[in-house]
Amino acid sequence: MDYEIVIGLEVHLQLKTDSKMFCGCRNKFGAEPNTLTCPVCLGMPGILPVINKQAFDYALRAGLALNCKIDSFTKFDRKNYFYPDLPKNYQISQYDLPFAKDGWLDIKLTTDNKPLTTKRIGITRVHLEEDTGKLIHPEVRQEAGAEKTQLGYSLVDLNRAGVPLLEIVSKPEINSPEEAYAYLGALKEIMQYLEISDCDMEKGSLRCDTNLSVRPKGDKKLGTKAEIKNINSFKFVKNALVYEAKRQTELLKKGEPVIQETRLWDEKEEVTKPMRSKEEAHDYRYFPEPDLVPVIIDAKWLEEVKKNMPELPETRRKRLINQYQISEHETNVLTQEKAMADYAESGPVRTKTARNLMLGIVLQIINERKIEFGEFARKVPPENLLELAEQLDKKIIVSTMATTVLGKMLDSGKTAAEIIKGQGLEQVSDKSSLEPIIKEVIKNNAKIVADYKGGKKTAIQSLIGQVMKASRGKANPQIVKELLAKLLDN
Ligand SMILES: [Zn+2]
Repeated sequence: MDYEIVIGLEVHLQLKTDSKMFCGCRNKFGAEPNTLTCPVCLGMPGILPVINKQAFDYALRAGLALNCKIDSFTKFDRKNYFYPDLPKNYQISQYDLPFAKDGWLDIKLTTDNKPLTTKRIGITRVHLEEDTGKLIHPEVRQEAGAEKTQLGYSLVDLNRAGVPLLEIVSKPEINSPEEAYAYLGALKEIMQYLEISDCDMEKGSLRCDTNLSVRPKGDKKLGTKAEIKNINSFKFVKNALVYEAKRQTELLKKGEPVIQETRLWDEKEEVTKPMRSKEEAHDYRYFPEPDLVPVIIDAKWLEEVKKNMPELPETRRKRLINQYQISEHETNVLTQEKAMADYAESGPVRTKTARNLMLGIVLQIINERKIEFGEFARKVPPENLLELAEQLDKKIIVSTMATTVLGKMLDSGKTAAEIIKGQGLEQVSDKSSLEPIIKEVIKNNAKIVADYKGGKKTAIQSLIGQVMKASRGKANPQIVKELLAKLLDN
């Protein structure tokens, strides 16, 4: 029997507002524990929350970009549970009336040797809530290599409590780990383009829970699902889903039941493990938040949000192709990150050489050094890259020297001209200084020279290579070729 995988994803995004969701405390990552708190986010008795308009505007951007229906009437609810990361014992969230629902997100899928296909994944709902605090479990400091032991207590940092959180729930329409990966990538891209979240999984501003079930292919009824929580990279999400799909399929093949439960992804052992059995939604005893009035989203407000919407990735790609007459492939590479697209458009996209630098050695260097594009951009601003392109266009340096120069620009923050002058990397084109090097190479390579003279004209390439090496990469290859041919043919 053939089986089919059904995956649903639940993504939590921290919104990068100035202040928290219901109070004026700053929303900032990495501050000293418990320095960004007040009676509201600490859940003191008698406090009154106030809705953050900026958070709501950002949330509406997301709802619109995900093609959702925006409800004109929405309210907040209390989700009650007892856990030390939440001093109020309830989280303000949205239950039966989320502000956005029934949307979709298009994902692009590549399978080997097949053209790119697009699949539309439904979005069930998007709602706003507040984040909780963070528990820290201190460990005893020990000598390197020794087992760590946990101290018998936990600490809580409430700086994160009350940070605006957007929950985006997909329909169970994702049918493979690859589709889940593509969905997360597309979602992250849109949210970064909307400028509403950093989407940084390492800092926890993007978090992902997923559920997976398996059913006989063609069945309409969903199989029993397992939830996998707290996975901290897209790659691990994919690996966890691959493992879980296999685990459940094997159980079904043996005629054994899948248990509905929450599982954890163990990165080291590369397996999912049971965590705890699933609470039902009614365990939370939701009820309307009595301290907040319902929110009315009128046409005027929505218009204002639409007016301030940054350009979405697909729109931007289409515009770039038309505006700069560049290929779809080039556009896709240049827009893979918003920071890169902004960088390109601030200058480099307009000249062919600078564009090629971005598509070639810039990408190569950030991959090799494993740095973010943003870091590259801080050290090599667009005007410096344009200047490097100019040095190449004017043939001040040999094109093969560009990688070395860019590396030094990244290390030192200096301009291309400063590095080229300072290190004497200028291309050598004058014949009088090249001739002695060429003569030396001819003298030392009698066999190759004989091949050339005997009619094997391609042998000249090897001689050019030797001259380039002898000049430490600075010789003008065109002039070298001319001079070599002249000396050899006489
Ligand atoms: Zn506060």
